[in-house]
Amino acid sequence: MTIFKRIIDKEIPVKILYEDELCLAFPDISPQAPTHVLVIPKKEIVNVGAALAEDQALLGHLLLVTQKVAAQLGLANGYRVVMNCGPDGGQSVDHLHIHLLGGRQMKWPPG
Ligand code: AMP
Repeated sequence: MTIFKRIIDKEIPVKILYEDELCLAFPDISPQAPTHVLVIPKKEIVNVGAALAEDQALLGHLLLVTQKVAAQLGLANGYRVVMNCGPDGGQSVDHLHIHLLGGRQMKWPPG
């Protein structure tokens, strides 16, 4: 079981910024920007590489929730949306998640 499943099950308390029947958004414990939020599905999907055709609407929903949380947090000047996938992608928690980063100028390319 991943740490995110324990957060979904409310075994580990987090500051919930958004929740509905499909997903949850909460601050990253190790923020890499003034605003750093994770948006995760309640369904256990390892990463975007493991998503199925049946997850199509859920994946779209996660992006629109990310948009909603960004607006809620006042990121009117822009933000970055990241999904790390697998070892080369730098993924450390094997439960699909969107990073929402904002509040500073982002650089490209990422490290
Ligand atoms: P990734 O490296 O893309 O798999 O991202 C996993 C993220 O989860 C990292 O940015 C961690 O800081 C974050 N994280 C790990 N444990 C927790 C936790 N208990 N609460 C909030 N964020 C966490």
